[in-house]
This record gives sequence, structure tokens and C-alpha cells, in this order.
Amino acid sequence: MNNQNQISDWLDKNLLRVERPGRYAGGEYNQIIKNWEEIPLHTALVFPDLYDLGISNLGITILYDEINKRTDALAERAYAPWLDMENLLRQDGIPLFSLENRKPLSEFDIVAFTLPYETLYTNALNILDLANIPILSRERNETHPLVIAGGHAVYNPEPLADFIDVFAIGEGEEIIHEILDVHKQWKSGGGTREDLLLQMSAIPGVYIPHFYSASYHEDGKFAELTPDRPGIPHKILKRILPILPPPPTRFLVPSIDVVHNRISVEIMRGCSRGCRFCHAGMVNRPVRERKASDIISAIHQSLTNTGFEEIALLSLSSSDYTQINELISGISRQYADQHIRISLPSLRIESFSVDIMEKLKETRSAGFTLAPEAATDRMRKTINKPLDIEQLLSTAEEIYQRGWPTLKLYFMIGHPNETIEDVQAIVDLCKSVRDIGFRTIGRRAKLNAGVSTFVPKPHTPFQWAACDTQESIREKQDLLRRELRGPGLKLSWTDPRETQLEAVLSRGDRRLSKVIYSAWKQGAKFDAWQDKTAFNAWDQAFVDNKIDPAFYSGRQRDLDEAFPWDHIDTGVKRKYLMQEYLNSRQEITSEDCATQCHACGIFSAFSELRKENSVDLWKCPDPIEWKEA
Ligand code: SF4
Repeated sequence: MNNQNQISDWLDKNLLRVERPGRYAGGEYNQIIKNWEEIPLHTALVFPDLYDLGISNLGITILYDEINKRTDALAERAYAPWLDMENLLRQDGIPLFSLENRKPLSEFDIVAFTLPYETLYTNALNILDLANIPILSRERNETHPLVIAGGHAVYNPEPLADFIDVFAIGEGEEIIHEILDVHKQWKSGGGTREDLLLQMSAIPGVYIPHFYSASYHEDGKFAELTPDRPGIPHKILKRILPILPPPPTRFLVPSIDVVHNRISVEIMRGCSRGCRFCHAGMVNRPVRERKASDIISAIHQSLTNTGFEEIALLSLSSSDYTQINELISGISRQYADQHIRISLPSLRIESFSVDIMEKLKETRSAGFTLAPEAATDRMRKTINKPLDIEQLLSTAEEIYQRGWPTLKLYFMIGHPNETIEDVQAIVDLCKSVRDIGFRTIGRRAKLNAGVSTFVPKPHTPFQWAACDTQESIREKQDLLRRELRGPGLKLSWTDPRETQLEAVLSRGDRRLSKVIYSAWKQGAKFDAWQDKTAFNAWDQAFVDNKIDPAFYSGRQRDLDEAFPWDHIDTGVKRKYLMQEYLNSRQEITSEDCATQCHACGIFSAFSELRKENSVDLWKCPDPIEWKEA
């Protein structure tokens, strides 16, 4: 009896012994099952967290669509099993399997992880272990799948260098096909795993840690990463699509309730605002928009293909989308009588219009979230997110007046040069907004304050900054918990230990691989779930490996210090990032580059691509070509 039937039988017997069996059953509407034997190339797409989160991940949806469009390849899905299912799998010696053909992941040619955030790393190791695939890259041979990874977190791939064979840096739609083509050629031509990796290393945007060695200074600081053979690139330029392709329209419809039961359409990629803490805003440049007409036709197809009742219009700054009014009007007009909800995750207060609000009102959108991030002018200048407070207050009044009882405001504490007065200002601002709500709609008005903690991210102007100390974060959160309470107020915050862990994993080098492995061995997993993070396991792992986490998280970097991620080129130049960092220290703001270019370098980095695709401007209206100093 082959593995597949064995697994199906086992699953049929055990499915009802676990929570939410729909996580493991597959069979969703729009699932694509291909004939395993007839298709030469097999890829497992893995979202290393629960099905409830992963099923609606747009990255996986796009790759599932791209690969299954091919006639020579199939893509199947796998997610992190919850603790109850993991125990059963381990107990009965059942390897982790895909949802479509229920094939053990070890039988796939490629196991592809999407890693949007760092606290998924231990889950990725746990999944490899549950799939009986050697966790360490160096222990894999020709019989094992090629383990690849992409996603925002891998813009600093070094902490995972011991575990991942191939990193795909940047946008995945094209590079995934090149990776499949090279694998197909290698598979039909035979050859060693080393040959496969060498052939892969020729693909632009691919980084193979195996071909590099890292060196460090005596004081422990990272020195450099050196290719250890000819032909291996010193720098890996991220991949971008010059023009955004039509969005996917065949969304999987889960048979259980999940976090997002909706259609997600990316209306634009990139952002020109230049907030200095924002990783996505820096690594997703340049700004590229989809046409409103393309989006509306994709929405029509997606609704027809799924029956979903909610549409999320995704981007980093949706109200900056040039055709936002046409788009919302078009959707409202077309679906006015069908009770379709529209959610616009990120609206900027400055470009917020009553028009948008009115149209969203017609579509019963859930609630309103605005992200001022900081409550004092000084901090807003430091992070380069200037904001007219009067406009925020009047917008809040408009929102309450037009029938939304709940307003959510996002703030971030822990930014460089922040004082306790800046934190107190968050309390005062939230109370002012709540009072506006009370005056406008009475005591049913609610103000939810989401206060996360700043993590200095690679490839941003704040990559030189230190993460705030846990003591300082606790002092600030104590103030918020003490003061930001009472009628109509709700506060949420991030555990300071979680912040430090994220900062270490974001800013680390390959010496962290051992720590991640030890933490996992000691039980760390589901680190993205605050109540599940095994902080003791992590603390012990740092001790066992003689590594001080504060060396990575809490240390301000010298301007000339080398970063473990310097070999990953986002197209945005170090000099531009440094200038923005220096501006932050003098509380100097930089205008939205949609109005004035700051020569970040992206325009030049992809000049060939622009010419090839006769893309004239993207959203770089008056670009300044980058000239090396
Ligand atoms: S090249 Fe200029 S306009 Fe384009 S993203 Fe960079 S700073 Fe903005």
C-alpha cells in the first residue's frame, strides 16, 4: 500500500480526533488536483503556520495559480499542523503530507516555504522534521526535495542559512518558473545536488547560502560574506515585475471558517511615502499600480468563482492608489444590491476622502483603522510620517458621524529618541478621539488603540537603530495600561519579549542558525502566537550557544558597520537609507517621493528592465538617476 493510500486511510480514521478537521481534509472549492504520475514536477507550497491563516495568504495563492497553470508541474499545499494533529502524526509515525494528493512532503521535488515574518522560523524546522526531511541543508542529498524559501523575512536570509537550500529574493511570479525549469532540466539530465545548486545560482534573484562563507571581526561584529567559487554573485538583486500581471481569481474556498474568508486583490505594489521604520515600503519599491478596470474584472471573476461576500483591496497605502475613487465607485455600482463588503486595510489620514467613506458606508465595511503611529510632531518627523492632528480629529468625527461606532488607531512605541512624554501623548490623543466619539454618537463610541513596538528592520533607514530595551518598553507599556483605560477605550500591545525575539531574528547573521535549531529542539514553535512562544526555550538556546540576544537587537550600529544582509540588493541604495537615518536624528522630514524624488536608487537599479518593458515612469514622476558617489 503506497504512502498516499496509507495516509488517506489514517486520516479518515483520525480526522475527528483533532480540532477543526477541515484544516487537514483538503477538498476546498477551486482546489486543483493533478495526476501525480503524469506530471514530472512536484512542488509543495508551505505556509508554516495554521491553515486558518495560511489558506488566504496571497503569496501562496499566486504561486499555486502560477505553477498549476503549467502542464509539466503541479503545486500542492501544506500548513503547520496544530499541536493535537502533530502529536497524532508523531505518535503513529505518519509523515506530514500535502492536502491535494496527500503525498508525504518528502516525495516532492521542491518544498517551497513562504516566510512573511521571522517568528515562523521554528515552525519551518518543525515541518521539515515532521516530513522526515533533514533539517540541515548540508545533510540533504539527491533523494531529498530542494528546500526553497521566499517572502519578506528572507530579505535577511542569514539566520536560516543552515536550513534553506535556495532563497528566492523579491517577487515570485517569474522566478518560480525559472526555478522549476532549472530543476526539470537537472532532473532529466541527472547530476549531483551540488550541480543542481550551481545551476540554480545562475538565476537572477536566487541566493544559495551554501556557496558563501561568512567572516566576523574580533569584537564579534559581522565582517563580510564571500562567494567561495567563481561565477557566484557578490550581490543578489531582488526580482520585481515591471508590470503587475492580472491578479489570481480562483481563490480556494475553505470548508471551515478561517481568519479571512474573502477575495484579496492587490491594487498596487510599493509605496512612495518613505516612512523610515517601514520594511515593506522600502523593499517593495517601485510603486506599480493595476488598472481599476483590470481589478474590477478580476473581482467579477473571483466572486463568480468563489461566492465570497468580502473583497479586500490590498496595498501598502490604498488611499494613495491613483484611481481609488473610480475603483470604489465601480465596485459599489456593480454590487450595490449584493451586500458585498469592501475592506481597505490601510488608509492614510492625509489622502482620506469623505467620498471614499461614503462609498465604503454603502458596502457595510467592518470598521475603520487609521495608523498615525506617533502622537507628537517630533516623533512623526523622526519616523517621517508627518500628520496634521486637526485633520486626524476631524476625520475621526466624520467616521463616527457616518455611523462607524468603532475606530482603531495604530501606534508604535520604541522608535529612536522617543521620550515618555511621546508615549503620554498617545494616551492624550486616544482620549481626545474617544471624546469626539462620545460627543458625536454618545457612549456607544469605541476607540481601540493598537500599540505595537518598533523593530529596526534590515534595508530601512532605521537599520542602524537599536531596538528599545525590554525595561524601557515595559515602563512605556505600564504607562499605557495605567492611563489608557476607561469607558470606550481598549488597548492592545505586544509582549516585549516577542519584540526582542523578532528583532534578533530580523537582524541576525548565520550564527543564529544554531540558536534557532536549539530553540526548536527545546520545543519552540508557533512563536507568532503570543501565548505559545516558548521564551524559556529561546533563552536557553541563547545561553547554550553563548550568544547575547541584545548584541543583535539592542545595539545601535556604526554608520560604516557591515550588515549580514548587505549582499541582498533591494535596489534602494545604502547612501539613501543612511541619509534618511541622519534626517531622522535631526527630525527632518522627506516629502512623499510621488511628488519629489529622493534618488533612492530603485529607478536606476532596474533601468534595463524598464527599457525592455518600455515602462517609462512607474510611479517615479521625476526620477533622479542614481550616480555612484
Ligand atoms: S527613484 Fe525616486 S521616485 Fe522612485 S521610488 Fe526612489 S525616491 Fe521614489
